[in-house]
Amino acid sequence: MTNVDSLYRPCRLCPRRCGSCRTIPPRGEKSAAGSGYCGESAALRLACASIHRGEEPPLTGGTSGGGSGTIFVSGCNLGCGFCQNRQISAGWSLPTRQKRASQVSARQIPAGRPVLTEEFARICLALQNRGAENINIVTGSHAVPALAAGIAAARAGISGAAEGPDRLRVPVLWNSSAYELPETLDLLSDTVDVFLPDMKTLDGDIAGRYCGAPDYPAAAKGAIRKMIAMRSLRFEKAPGAGGPDRMVSGVMIRHLVLPGHTEATRTVLRWFADHCAGRALLSVMFQYTPLGAGPQGYVTKAEAGRVLGWLEEFGINEGYCQEPVPGNTGWLPDFEKTNPFPSELSVPVWHWRDGFV
Ligand code: SF4
Repeated sequence: MTNVDSLYRPCRLCPRRCGSCRTIPPRGEKSAAGSGYCGESAALRLACASIHRGEEPPLTGGTSGGGSGTIFVSGCNLGCGFCQNRQISAGWSLPTRQKRASQVSARQIPAGRPVLTEEFARICLALQNRGAENINIVTGSHAVPALAAGIAAARAGISGAAEGPDRLRVPVLWNSSAYELPETLDLLSDTVDVFLPDMKTLDGDIAGRYCGAPDYPAAAKGAIRKMIAMRSLRFEKAPGAGGPDRMVSGVMIRHLVLPGHTEATRTVLRWFADHCAGRALLSVMFQYTPLGAGPQGYVTKAEAGRVLGWLEEFGINEGYCQEPVPGNTGWLPDFEKTNPFPSELSVPVWHWRDGFV
């Protein structure tokens, strides 16, 4: 058993602290791999990798930049009912995702396939070689040990790699729900440069109802505090191509406004202003789309206006805010496709079914 494997047996990597064994057991013992809340074994499974242009400008380099090198990890330890990536996080297919969660049959396997450490490193290098400004690992909280090992391998380099430069040099971003433990984040201290945590809500009822995690507020506050302590904000001037300064270190907190719950957003903004302003950036998102067991409807213009007013009232002026466009679902991903996103947003590099493309 490797050191990486031992962290999955028993698994207490995230606040669920299931204590399940995620590795293949010795001969004769019953396998419990996949019996934890996230349903994942110790095998790192990926869904796709692409150059993505839909992130905030310091992460993509703006219109003249190379885009963000996203790697979507299969599975999730949180499991929000309204997840836009549910095909790869919870296993709901597109035809079923319009149904309510209660109508969807018990656990399905989220789309993706296992990759070994070297293949993960090759995917990172392929993204870098295609001009990615960074490597952006999406929803990897349940797979921290394997991902830390994969990033370390990419940084160390692969001799003779066909993908181009044989060492990963661009910053690594950790794009997560923040439903994480500080001691697990410690495993990323040598490998991750920028943290992109969500702050979904500070309302335990909302977190319980929509994400099955009433302890989310306390866990997310602790995780974000830890991230801010680990990385301070730092930007670098854009290289030859110009565009915005690139974020190379620090924390950017994303908050998705939920329709009908703007008072909960007010609480998040107040918390950010009191505890994070000046040490982290905030990105407010209005793109909520009713897909499953979440609030129905879209954020209205009146709700968005209230949120913008609170940003001003609390003096939050460093960060990003989406344009509210109610009913626009054209950007929603379909991970069955080689390019899950619209082509103007994303260029595919690797897909779980097709490999390198
Ligand atoms: S990572 Fe998965 S198995 Fe481990 S504690 Fe969290 S939900 Fe449970």
